Amino acid sequence: MGARDGELESLPESGPPVAEHSDTVSDGELLRWPKVDLHLHLVGSAAPDTVAELAGRHPGAGVPTDPAALRAFYAFRDFPHFIEVYTAVSGLVRAAADIEALVVGLGGDLLAQGVFYAEVTVTPVTHLRAGIRADELARALESGAARVRRDTGVELAWVYDISAGDGLSGARETLRVALDQPPVGLVGFGLGGSEAGVDRADYRDVFGQARAAGLRSVPHAGETAGPDQVWAAVRDLRADRVGHGIAAQRDPRLMGHLRDHGITLEVCPSSNVATGAVPELAAHPLKDLLAHGVPVTLGSDDPPMFATSLLEEYRRDRADPRSAQDVGENRHPVQLRPGPRPAPTDGRGTDALTPPRLGAASPTGGRSSPGWRVGACRASHRGAGPAGATCPPTRSHRGPRPGTTPRCGSSARVRDGAGPGRGKPTE
Ligand SMILES: [Zn+2]
Repeated sequence: MGARDGELESLPESGPPVAEHSDTVSDGELLRWPKVDLHLHLVGSAAPDTVAELAGRHPGAGVPTDPAALRAFYAFRDFPHFIEVYTAVSGLVRAAADIEALVVGLGGDLLAQGVFYAEVTVTPVTHLRAGIRADELARALESGAARVRRDTGVELAWVYDISAGDGLSGARETLRVALDQPPVGLVGFGLGGSEAGVDRADYRDVFGQARAAGLRSVPHAGETAGPDQVWAAVRDLRADRVGHGIAAQRDPRLMGHLRDHGITLEVCPSSNVATGAVPELAAHPLKDLLAHGVPVTLGSDDPPMFATSLLEEYRRDRADPRSAQDVGENRHPVQLRPGPRPAPTDGRGTDALTPPRLGAASPTGGRSSPGWRVGACRASHRGAGPAGATCPPTRSHRGPRPGTTPRCGSSARVRDGAGPGRGKPTE
């Protein structure tokens, strides 16, 4: 069933009216809001200076070394051109030390935006093909995350994703690496790259094995293709969250399904404009998704490539009066509301994923991070003051279904990680 306007309006308010904040919030307040970024890619997050430095080391890769030329290089004609550029930049990462440098640089960038937790997508097959071994990759991610935690307090977790361009053989290789040599903090299994001619359902078996091992399903879908890909991600890949998923706006029944099952879309507005998936921010489906009760979290995707950051996404969303108005009218303080007090530093209460016990017997010497298990937010927000009193602003505070106890949007899905641990793929 799709959302009905009257139904939405009848939902209890779960916090202060958003428009009051979004109309007046200052840049300083936006910066201080504790934020999580659940959709960003490690290579795509590399600051221009880092990319220029790597390009200088590898002049044959076709990536400019001059920052101004790099900006022009990041002007994408369309989505295939973006994939082409992204692949060229990925090719600059050729050693474990490059990986660790990317992680450390990202940590500083997140801290500067007030982001205290991020789930970062890594495409292991790309790095394997560049000569970095799977165990080296895992160790570099772990040591980078440890440095970031020590120096900034920012907590990082990982999503290993399949690049659709690598086909099913690449998918199986990604699965093998994820199960056999995971880094500490590996929480999710994803699928990215082009959607054209890549049916999400083709990856059902691989995702099934990843899920059986305790990893969460977070495929990209409905970024450049239609709602059928989002349906496939939900039904065939059993998505816990969907990367982008903005095509759901074209299918009210799908939006109702996402709402009713608490499946969050990781929406990255500036990315969608930069790749040509959406013509301009004013035409972005975010407002409609929110109006239909779809849980949404803002992500930055590949921020320097798209001349953005998570903080900038908040600013741009605030700058769109229609968005702010719609968010406020529908009591969906998913994005535009401050948390009255600092959020916990472990992602608890967000739409963050639960780390499985994959690292328990990892040959890399990994282990599950102590004190880091992200459980469901069990806070009841009825009569307990603003919802944000216990949760950071980026998680979903959808109104509850009539007659139910209001809970965080993530509470029904994200449980304490008790996956069966790492296991061998059966194929
Ligand atoms: Zn992405």
